[in-house]
Amino acid sequence: MKVHEYQAKEIFKKYGILTPREKMCRTVDEVLGASKEIGLPCVIKAQVMVGGRGKAGGIKIAKNENEVKEHTSSILNMEIKGIPVKKVLVSEAIDIGTEAYLGIIIDRAEKKTVVMACKEGGVEIEEIARQRPEAIFKVYADSLLGLMPHRGREVGLFLYADPKLAFECAAVTSKLYKIFTDLDSSLVEINPLVVDKSGRLIALDAKLNFDDNGLFRHPDVEAMRDRESEDENELLAKEQDLSYVRLAGNIGCVVNGAGLAMATMDLVKHFGGEPANFLDIGGSSSPEKVMNALRILLKDENVKVIFFNIFGGITRCDDVANGILEAKKTLNIKHPIVARLTGTNEDKAMEILKEAGLIFAKTMDEGAQKAIELLK
Ligand code: GDP
Ligand code: MN
Repeated sequence: MKVHEYQAKEIFKKYGILTPREKMCRTVDEVLGASKEIGLPCVIKAQVMVGGRGKAGGIKIAKNENEVKEHTSSILNMEIKGIPVKKVLVSEAIDIGTEAYLGIIIDRAEKKTVVMACKEGGVEIEEIARQRPEAIFKVYADSLLGLMPHRGREVGLFLYADPKLAFECAAVTSKLYKIFTDLDSSLVEINPLVVDKSGRLIALDAKLNFDDNGLFRHPDVEAMRDRESEDENELLAKEQDLSYVRLAGNIGCVVNGAGLAMATMDLVKHFGGEPANFLDIGGSSSPEKVMNALRILLKDENVKVIFFNIFGGITRCDDVANGILEAKKTLNIKHPIVARLTGTNEDKAMEILKEAGLIFAKTMDEGAQKAIELLK
């Protein structure tokens, strides 16, 4: 689960990390009021849970009341990466001296929590990681002892030559680590971490993601969930017990089992296609579940072909076939469907789907290739 910048900063504040004076607002009037409290110039920031808001025009500095009105209404009418902006954060304008990056995630290869620091802040860290990985400084938390204080100091001394700033940064690193572990976070990030012209160390931006499996321990975090900002399809899938993750491609995959779903996406990629999603309909799939899965897929306008890859173990292929047939009738599916159904009751499934106009495949490879061909 993700939260907005303003919510993450509320948590930062609780843990004693310095953030700009700021206020979340939903209307131009609210922003006008807030800008009076905070003072001009102020920064108006779109609250959407995607990166690169700055580049997209979602962050603007307003020097007077007119600009406050103009910028706010333009940002509130904006979509950033397809997500409409419904809230803005009005923030004290900071006189930036330097911008750095500070973040914590799990390093799966090392099986440890890693703190990452970079002297270039405000830019996309993924980009730097690809092009100049040596610019990123990493320290690891001990799995038993946590993040040792000297590790935080290493981070501080990497980012800042001034010892006072380095030690302050070490303290911020410890606080960030405490947030990460206390709240079962999967990512916490300050980008940029700023030193302003008067030498204060300030978190100018904040990103905080949580491990969904830990949410039951944090009802206060769960209460921050902004349903309006989440992918509608992913929420729908969660309610129906389907694991769905939307991706950027155009081949909709319906698969049973997470491992098979991953393998299917890999194969689609291998043969030069792009999966539109990860979708695991789980074991013991009833026709109803197949229908629900297709309903979700069809909401994604990018989907041009549907690829069923089902291994019938506990799942019965005839159940899946009945689901497809029912869905074709009631949902009026026009997309070509490639089906590879193998295992329990596959013969019955073939019988059911004989007249349904599907394209059949015997193997996963064949299925993936046929799905890709159909795009042409
Ligand atoms: P992001 O683009 O979504 O990561 O949003 P950020 O909050 O990180 O802001 C992007 C950039 O806008 C920062 O790196 C700064 O360069 C600039 N910015 C944001 N707030 C301020 C501010 O108060 N003062 C100044 N001078 N620049 C700011
Ligand atoms: Mn940022």
